[in-house]
Amino acid sequence: MSAPDGLLERLRGRVLPTVQAVLPLVLRIAGARVPADARRRSCLVLAPHGDDEVLGCGATILARRSAGARVVVAYVTDGGAFPDWLDPVDNVAKRLAETDSAAAALGLDKSDVVQLAFPDGLLESAERSGALGAALERVLSDVQPDDVLTTSPWDPHPDHAALGRAVRSAVRPGGPRLLEYPIWQWESILAWPRMLRDAHRPEIVRTKEHRQRKSEALMAYSSQLDVDQGGELPPGKGLPPVLFDRLTSGYEIFFPVHSAAADARARR
Ligand SMILES: [Zn+2]
Repeated sequence: MSAPDGLLERLRGRVLPTVQAVLPLVLRIAGARVPADARRRSCLVLAPHGDDEVLGCGATILARRSAGARVVVAYVTDGGAFPDWLDPVDNVAKRLAETDSAAAALGLDKSDVVQLAFPDGLLESAERSGALGAALERVLSDVQPDDVLTTSPWDPHPDHAALGRAVRSAVRPGGPRLLEYPIWQWESILAWPRMLRDAHRPEIVRTKEHRQRKSEALMAYSSQLDVDQGGELPPGKGLPPVLFDRLTSGYEIFFPVHSAAADARARR
């Protein structure tokens, strides 16, 4: 490695962890507290995989359910791709059982859980073929939510990004409010400039009141967590610690997005 490269690496090694530590604080300070009556708004939560709904929105779901709002969760993929050293058929069966347990822990009615069952890891193909968009249109039409909560086109995970793009296309101007929740962005700060460019002032939901139940819902996903996180995977094979710590911390954050311009930018 040349000297300038070495210097760059050392700088990255120092700067990136600092930004990663400071960014959540900055966003929390800059964010708006969600007014209490927002809890009564019905919502559709779109989760690329079983566990994303808990990680990104668990406390929000619990808050809305306890305020009497209808919450529908649609699991978009079948969860077959991970753990990638196990049989995908077994993974799908296990994840289905885990989503049932998590949904119950979140206080959801069975009739308000939707399994779209696209193959895990291949959501970009479903997006390109139009199958994902068609499925989203059907769910939106059935549920008619006030708010839609989903991952962003700028989430570094390809399934999460494909879902984000398809949802931006499916949610029409004048339709439900579209709110994007970050997941894998917490591990990759390079995703944030585009994320922030597209969004309005973020909304902050404090998790304190529902933290215990959110944690119980997360424990339903033992196939995705390592033993140190309360799951069954070998140490180091579960969620990255940065992501796990952030997504189980004191607040959830949502980025309101709505504009044809943002949609067009995501497709460029
Ligand atoms: Zn996911």
